[in-house]
Formats: sequence, C-alpha cells, structure tokens
Amino acid sequence: MTRATRAVIDLAAFRHNLQISRQAAPHSKQLAIIKAHAYGHGMIHAAQALDEADGFGVAILEEAIALREAGISKPIILLEGFASAADLNLIRGYRLDCVIHHVSQVEILEQASGTPIPVWLKIDTGMHRLGFPPHQANEMYQRLMSCPAVQKPLRLMTHFANADDPDDNTTEQQIKTFYESFDFDAENGADCDCSLANSAGILGWPASHAQWVRPGIMLYGVTPFMHGTGKDYSLQPVMTLQAELIAVNRFNKGDAIGYGGSWICPEEMPIGVVAIGYGDGYPRHAQSGTPVLVNGQRCQIVGRVSMDMVTVDLRNQPNAEVGDEVILWGNGLPVEEVASSAGTIAYELLCGVTNRVRFEYINQV
Ligand SMILES: *Cc1c(COP(=O)(O)O)cnc(C)c1O
Repeated sequence: MTRATRAVIDLAAFRHNLQISRQAAPHSKQLAIIKAHAYGHGMIHAAQALDEADGFGVAILEEAIALREAGISKPIILLEGFASAADLNLIRGYRLDCVIHHVSQVEILEQASGTPIPVWLKIDTGMHRLGFPPHQANEMYQRLMSCPAVQKPLRLMTHFANADDPDDNTTEQQIKTFYESFDFDAENGADCDCSLANSAGILGWPASHAQWVRPGIMLYGVTPFMHGTGKDYSLQPVMTLQAELIAVNRFNKGDAIGYGGSWICPEEMPIGVVAIGYGDGYPRHAQSGTPVLVNGQRCQIVGRVSMDMVTVDLRNQPNAEVGDEVILWGNGLPVEEVASSAGTIAYELLCGVTNRVRFEYINQV
C-alpha cells in the first residue's frame, strides 16, 4: 500500500487566480512569479496552467533553463539577474530577461558584446535589499543605454517592502520615490515599461499597477495581506495537503501525548494519528490547537509534531477510523490559518512541502 499523503494541485484554480489578478489590474501585463518550484507547487505544471500569463518570473538561472527545456516560450525574467559574465551566453541562448540591480552587473554588460539582452533596471525605493538607490537611477539608466549588449528600450522596476500591511503608507512613498528617481517622466508616456506591484500591490495599490504586474502568492490562492485569507479576494487555494489516519487510540484523563508529553488528555478521549510530519513539510512549530479537517470536520492537533506523524484530538469526530481523510490545509482550511498557528507565513509552508509527498495534478485543461 502506498502512503496516502499527498499534495493535490488544482490547475483550474491557477487559471482562476490569474483571472483575479487580471481583473484587479486590467491594463497591465501579467508576469506570473513561479520561483522556488512555483512556491512549492511544481514550476512546470504551474507555467503550463498559467499559459495566459504574459511572462514568467523566476529567481535563478536553473529555474529559467528548466522552463525553456520544458518548452515554455513566453518571456522569462531572472529576478536576480546574473552573477558572472559566464552566465551571459546561457541568458542569450535561452532568451532570458535580466533584472540589473548592482553595479557589478552593469560593469559586466559594459564589457560584453553580442546579441542585446532585455534588462530591467531595478531601483531600491525603500526595501533595502536589491536595487540602485534613487540618486543613481539616472546614471545607471544612461550607462545601460550606452551598452551595445543591452536591448533598448530599458524596463524599470522596484519592489515593495510593506505592501502586505494596508495601513502602512510606505508603499505610497515607494511609488512616489520610484517615479521621481528618473529625470524623465517614467510614469506617463516614456517608452520604458515599468513594474512595481507584487500581489499586495495588485490588490491593494492601484497606483502601482503600471505596464507590468508581478503576481506571486495570490496565484496560489493565498492573501498577500497580513490578515484574512485568499477567499476575501475570491482566490481559490491551489494546493490541498492531505493525509490519512493511520491509528485511532483511546487514552485516559492525565495521559501525556507524544514527545515531551507536552499535551495532557483532560478526559478519557480518542486521539488520531495522521501520517504527515515535519519530514513532509508540515510545520513542527504548529501549536496544539492548530486546525485540521478530519472527514471534512474541524479538529485540532495536540502535542508535538513529529517527523512522520501528527496527533489529533478526535473528540468531535468520535467515529473517525483508520483510513479516514485528513486535510492539513487547502480546500476548506486556509493555509493562512495554519501558518499563523505555526508562527510563520503561508509562503513558507507552501514552499516547504518536501518531495516525500506525492504531488497529484488535477483539472488539467
Ligand atoms: C517573489 C517576488 C514577487 C511576488 O511576490 P508576492 O508577494 O508573492 O506576490 C514579485 N516581485 C519580485 C521581485 C519577487 O521577488
């Protein structure tokens, strides 16, 4: 018997969520962000399901190459650009766009010859991670414009630091800083395409939409904001993580459950054992009380999560049996809720499902 633990990936939900992004930013092109195995969902399947996107964004060269080898022909953007001159031939060969965020990259391009490469000049408007400070924006723009190895026109971008918080005005400030960085009018009419918005920008800051938006987490059905769930924006969860009960046992009042005996039965009660653990990517830090669905009904995990198993309070599912289905997150149980019970964010949980879990792709078109 093979283990029932699996991640069911609903490809129709991908398409639906992309539509939501299009409706929110109807005048922008959609650069679907599918880095890190499409946030743990399977990058090639995601790219195929999202074939109505205008392009794809990935973090590293290996991801971009895997997409091209799988026959994906849309524009692909390397969000961190390249690290060395040796990468340029691969970038040309695979027809990749590069984000240029550091002077070391500009210097490499200034030395380069050959077919011009499409580039996105990245300005750091307050995130303070990648990008040129606003006072260098014009200089870098001019330097790239002078490079024969760079395709014209350039494209311009920035990234938001606090857009997940609708009450934080940093985002408005970042939008303003971005457009003021250039001594031409990048916002209206210049022939440079601009891209500012991640999912939170798309849903929360219409002023950030510009020519290209970069939806990530929302494509997976998850809210980009610190509170609420994807459902608030009519998003549908793409991944449902599920497993089965492999044991149901009765314990007495006072019995301690699992490693460290951290949870004590308050009365005589049934405890279910679910075949999933941190070895599968279920978070070890999920606290007692974290919800799961047993046969579609909400129950709570109790005691510590172990590598291969989780224990569940079955008092509101007294008839549950070995073999019954348990949903850890996804349909009927927002991953956002599990993340907050585990002291993390949904992004991390989705990215963290390990390859011991079987992935099943449904609703292929
Ligand atoms: C990951 C990433 C995104 C997508 O962000 P979400 O919050 O998942 O929408 C957009 N732009 C860049 C540069 C990124 O690295």
